[in-house]
Amino acid sequence: MRWGLIGASSIAANHMIGAIRGAGGDIRSVLSSSAERATSYAAENGIPRGFDDLDALLAEGDVDAVYISTTNEKHFAQALAAIGAGLHVLCEKPLAMTVADAVTMVRAAADAGVTFATNHHLRNAGSHLAIHEAVQAGRVGTVLSVRVFHAVHLPPFLQGWRIDNPGAGGGVIPDIVVHDADTVRFHLGEDPVNVVAMDAASGLGQGVEDSAMSVWSMPSGAMVMTHESFTHAHARTGLEIHGTEGSIIARNVMTQAPVGEITLRTAAGEEALTFARHDLYARGMELFHAAARGEGRPAADGVDGVKSLAVAAAVAKAARTGQRTAVDYGGI
Ligand code: NDP
Repeated sequence: MRWGLIGASSIAANHMIGAIRGAGGDIRSVLSSSAERATSYAAENGIPRGFDDLDALLAEGDVDAVYISTTNEKHFAQALAAIGAGLHVLCEKPLAMTVADAVTMVRAAADAGVTFATNHHLRNAGSHLAIHEAVQAGRVGTVLSVRVFHAVHLPPFLQGWRIDNPGAGGGVIPDIVVHDADTVRFHLGEDPVNVVAMDAASGLGQGVEDSAMSVWSMPSGAMVMTHESFTHAHARTGLEIHGTEGSIIARNVMTQAPVGEITLRTAAGEEALTFARHDLYARGMELFHAAARGEGRPAADGVDGVKSLAVAAAVAKAARTGQRTAVDYGGI
C-alpha cells in the first residue's frame, strides 16, 4: 500500500513511519503547512516527495492511503478531502474537535467504501490483549469497577500546542481521556452512560486543563474512575479491573512502549499474567493493511474513534458545568 503522511509530526517520525514500513507500506509523500519543513522532513525520513498543499498531495502524491497526524483541529477537513479522493484513512485521536464532525467523517468513509480507522494504540498492546482475554474468560467474574491511572509528565518536546492552544485541541482531556475511554470500552465491551468530572491546571496548562479526574457509569452497573495529567513525573500509569471473582492489577501499561506487569488476584492467590511484547503501532498497521484488503477490521475503527471522543467531550462538559453529564454518541 502506498501511503501519504498528512502532518510532519513527532508521532509519525517516532512511531508511525517505522510501523507503516514494517507492515509493508511504502510512504510516498508527506504534507506540511510549510514547504521548507515538508522538504526537510521528507529528506530526513526517506520520503520521496514533500507537499505544502493537500489537494496537490491527493492528486499527485501517488498514494492509496493517508495517515493524518496534524493538530486536532485539522483532522476533519483533511480526512474529508482524503475520503473524497477515494483514499483509505488512518486518523489520529481525537478524530475531530466535535462529535458531530467525527460522525460526519465516519459516515463519509462508509459511503465512499474506504477503510477508516482511529489510531488508538493501547488496544494493540500485548498487555491489554492479555487483560481483555482474562476479562472475557470470566477470570475476574462480573466486573464491578475499573480504575485508570494515566497521570504522566508531558516531555518537553511535546509541550507545545497541547498545553496552551485550545483551538488546536490542546488539553489533557482531548489528549488522554480519549485513550482511556477506548481502553475501558475495549475491556468491558460497553459504552459509558454518564460522567462526573473535575479538571485543573496544575503547572503546565495555560488556558487549557493539564489534569482531570472523572467517574463514569456503565450500562452493566460497573463504575469507572480515571485520572489523567501532564504534570505527574513520578506517578507511573496503571489499570485495575475489579470483579466478583478477582482483580487485575496492571502497572505501567498506559503507555506507548510494550512494557508493564499484570497480576491477577483471586481467592486462590496471585498469578502474574504474561503477554507478548510487540510494537503497539506495528500491530495496528498490520490490522489496517489487512482491513483495507477486505480482511477483518482495524484495531479501532471510526466508530471507536467517535465513541472515545464522545466520552472525552462529556468529561470536558461535566468538568466545565459541574453537572453529571450524559455521553452523547452523536447518533452513531
Ligand atoms: P506535533 O506537535 O509533533 O505535530 C503536530 C503538527 O505540528 C505537525 O503536523 C507539524 O505541522 C507541526 N510541527 C511538529 N513539529 C514541528 C517542528 N519541529 N517545527 C514546526 N512545526 C512542527 O504533534 P504530535 O505528533 O505529538 O501529535 C500529532 C497528532 O497525533 C495529534 O492529533 C495527537 O493527538 C496525535 N498523537 C497520537 C498518539 C497516539 O499514540 N495515538 C501519540 C501522540 C500524538 P505541519 O505538518 O504543518 O508541518
